[in-house]
Amino acid sequence: MDEFHRDTWVEIDLDAIYDNVANLRRFLPEGTQIMAVVKANAYGHGDAQVAATALEAGASRLAVAFLDEALALRKKGIDAPILVLGASRPEDVALAAEHRIALTVFRSDWLEKASSLYNGSTPIHFHLKMDTGMGRLGVKDEEETKRIAALIDRHPPFVLEGVYTHFATADEVNTDYFSYQYARFLHMLDWLPSRPSLVHCANSAAALRFSDRAFNMVRFGISMYGLAPSPDIKPLLPYELKEAFSLHSRLVHVKKLQPGEKVSYGATYTAQTEEWIGTIPIGYADGWLRRLQHFHVLVGGRRAPIVGRICMDQCMIRLPEPLPVGTKVTLIGRQGDEVISIDDVARHLDTINYEVPCTIGYRVPRIFFRNKRIMEVRNAVGRG
Ligand SMILES: *Cc1c(COP(=O)(O)O)cnc(C)c1O
Repeated sequence: MDEFHRDTWVEIDLDAIYDNVANLRRFLPEGTQIMAVVKANAYGHGDAQVAATALEAGASRLAVAFLDEALALRKKGIDAPILVLGASRPEDVALAAEHRIALTVFRSDWLEKASSLYNGSTPIHFHLKMDTGMGRLGVKDEEETKRIAALIDRHPPFVLEGVYTHFATADEVNTDYFSYQYARFLHMLDWLPSRPSLVHCANSAAALRFSDRAFNMVRFGISMYGLAPSPDIKPLLPYELKEAFSLHSRLVHVKKLQPGEKVSYGATYTAQTEEWIGTIPIGYADGWLRRLQHFHVLVGGRRAPIVGRICMDQCMIRLPEPLPVGTKVTLIGRQGDEVISIDDVARHLDTINYEVPCTIGYRVPRIFFRNKRIMEVRNAVGRG
């Protein structure tokens, strides 16, 4: 078990991840597979730990953005089928085949190059991506779709395992554009001579709202981590999600300021009365961004404002009372009756909840809890 020597850490509640996947499993129509999306180190949570937990809870496949992320999972002993959602290089098809990693395909010229470079016999599985209105990756026209299907058909180690699309607005209350994309997908599917074994379109928002239109697999990302795909549809979700990510630190210094004394770079904060100021060892290099300056944290079960500019490795808070060095500070999570959710942080940063755990850097160690016990500690500095 890794050790760390720093009073700032993330706790990952794998029981919450398990429950979020198991609840989805019960909620989806019989026979719908769950692909757990663990790209970006499982949205900052920890790729292998989340993957293993999701598989245990009923997910049958994994998805990442890049081949390197899939290879990292293989290195960590994850054996389940993995799909790379993003673009890969045609040169890397042999590597993907060797590690049984499925790739996304959306261009015939890419596929021609891949077929000319790959003369192995190990099968390589492809999922064809269709652009139904996201405007990111995917085929858009019938001829190109048919060319890709024919190329795969002609090159025996290549197997068309799946076809999919991605929604741009499944997390919005208005469903017009979602319906347009869904209808477009149905239309485009008919361009293929036959449907591959996996057909999928639903992200978390679509899986939870339109499970009757999920074909035979959903790609479950943000809500596996216990987060609503958007604040607008939070009230529309069919069951409660459990947040897995919390962020903590400890007071490493406590001092009394006299009226007029200043705090941090720029001396932008001035004590108005006698005030107790605590220093915590987390800063913008950890993803606790400077824009959080006027936000707050929890200490002693109460809210404490962040005062002065956030530094690279540290920041200061105004304490509700003198508290001893070593007192636990919660930046995301619960203390007593008070909660700071990822949504609260996202709102302060004027961004989406997805961005918050992804931004908390790997310099912050992760402690994984399973069955309410510490299962693993991972100090990710300098590691994959
Ligand atoms: C990230 C991603 C998902 C997961 O989306 P969530 O909103 O997090 O559930 C699904 N599909 C694709 C193609 C993605 O890139």
